[in-house]
Amino acid sequence: MQSIKKYIPPIPGRLLKNIYLTIRGLYYRGNRYTCPVCGYSFRKMLPGGFDLPVIKEKHIVGAGRRDNDICPYCQSTDRDRLIYLFLKYEKSFFEQHFSLLHIAPEPALHKVFSHTNSIDYHPATKYSEGFYYKAKVETEDLLDLHFEEASFDWVICNHVLEHIPDDKLAMHEIFRVLKPGGKAILQVPISFQLEKTFEDETVTAEADREKYLGQFDHVRIYGRDYPDRLKDVGFVVHEVNTKHDFKHISSLNKFAINPDEILFLCDKPLKKSRL
Ligand SMILES: [Zn+2]
Repeated sequence: MQSIKKYIPPIPGRLLKNIYLTIRGLYYRGNRYTCPVCGYSFRKMLPGGFDLPVIKEKHIVGAGRRDNDICPYCQSTDRDRLIYLFLKYEKSFFEQHFSLLHIAPEPALHKVFSHTNSIDYHPATKYSEGFYYKAKVETEDLLDLHFEEASFDWVICNHVLEHIPDDKLAMHEIFRVLKPGGKAILQVPISFQLEKTFEDETVTAEADREKYLGQFDHVRIYGRDYPDRLKDVGFVVHEVNTKHDFKHISSLNKFAINPDEILFLCDKPLKKSRL
């Protein structure tokens, strides 16, 4: 047995995963949905996320269980597809040369960006135990980025700020490393029912955070004042409404994105405001 094993090369985990995803993609193939990220069509997407009572009670957009969330092949989520569609069709992102800082990169978007030659791509994250990371992701602390001021045309930082106690400092850092005229997409789970963001420093136990904040490691639930928090550090904030503001895409249902999600597009002005 030993001698036979010697001649069979080990199958890398990555290859096995690719085979599994290919088979799963074939099994779910169909015409109901198309994933814009990988380009394949499926009869259904896979469910993702999980429900906690507070998520339903506060109608937190960008959280909770979604029936058609994950692409069976490339594993993009509804959030990834929204950003991809916005960048590709509304901003012609892939046809231009940009520098991009991608904080806590989502695997499906990481794959697209890292394979696009026109993008000077910097995926970065603060490594934490228990989370999966793609290879070649730089180590960065969002509260103390090592990049110089005005380094990037774009920053993408999704579903990170709700984990950071000093989110204002993180927003300042993102603003600092953007070039004047640069743009950031800064998505968070958000309850439009809440006039003010809900924070309580005494809620620290994981069970209590799940109960009051919707996830064991969240430190707040953002409310309708989220754009004001971004404006406070200098951003000009555009709230892109998925249902009404996408000009180049007519059939959003086909791409299985969340129609309630608002895309927060944050511009760093060319000149500092006099205010
Ligand atoms: Zn896909």
